[in-house]
Amino acid sequence: MQKQAELYRGKAKTVYSTEDDALLVLEFRDDTSAGDGARIAQFERKGKVNNRFNYFIMRKLEEAGIPTQMEALLSDTESLVKKLDMVPVECVVRNRAAGSLVKRLGVEEGLVLDPPLFDLFLKNDAMHDPMINESYCETFGWVSREHLAQMKTLTYRANAVLTTLFDNAGLILVDFKLEFGLFNGEVLLGDEFSPDGARLWDKATLNKLDKDRFRQEMGGLIEAYEEVAHRLGVDLS
Ligand code: ADP
Ligand code: UDP
Repeated sequence: MQKQAELYRGKAKTVYSTEDDALLVLEFRDDTSAGDGARIAQFERKGKVNNRFNYFIMRKLEEAGIPTQMEALLSDTESLVKKLDMVPVECVVRNRAAGSLVKRLGVEEGLVLDPPLFDLFLKNDAMHDPMINESYCETFGWVSREHLAQMKTLTYRANAVLTTLFDNAGLILVDFKLEFGLFNGEVLLGDEFSPDGARLWDKATLNKLDKDRFRQEMGGLIEAYEEVAHRLGVDLS
């Protein structure tokens, strides 16, 4: 399936139409952003690593019974996906305290959160992705109560599957963000799962192997992504 017109150029991916109205091509670029797009940089190989990483994770989630957008890996930097009517709400699960939770509550980074927390953020860069809750979704019509309940259930199920997957690779899944969309009335996992939208720490050293290396200007971003991919067995050849 060939890509046709460019439909949307986001901060990290470009979305293309295809000859099939129900399918899109997601192209993973080498761009990385922080601060809702305020800081942007390019990293060689990032598009390839994230595309292949995302394909690997989406396959694992499918195998575990979580319905996803994924159709096929098209090339190093492109995947063929179902065209979803995206819900403009980000679902975040936190197994340990980090990032905005630490800023908001002043708790110690790394604090184990048992049971894990579930947060919702509105996808709106201009408003800096404000935190919202279930009642906002219904009142503003972003997603129905029933579909949101399914998104929450699927996010927790993904957390269970991925926590084990990463643990077996010597990594702690600290937190992550998922985006969902509707396809013929069904809730499917869309967008991507990669170290751009998750926090992954080495189990032994607590070394950060995710986008915090860019946010905190630590260096070694792609090397860290490749290390995670290598440990999981993602094919980067
Ligand atoms: P952003 O929009 O935040 O800058 P990206 O650069 O990742 O993010 O752009 C990808 C865009 O494609 C996002 O807006 C995302 O919601 C959208 N998207 C991801 N998967 C799908 C899909 N399967 N169908 C339709 N849109 C999608
Ligand atoms: N996240 C994301 N996109 C966003 C906001 C958050 O992918 O727009 C991810 C982020 O990488 C982390 C998790 O969601 O894995 C929780 O992020 P947090 O709320 O701590 O926000 P941040 O530290 O990005 O301000």
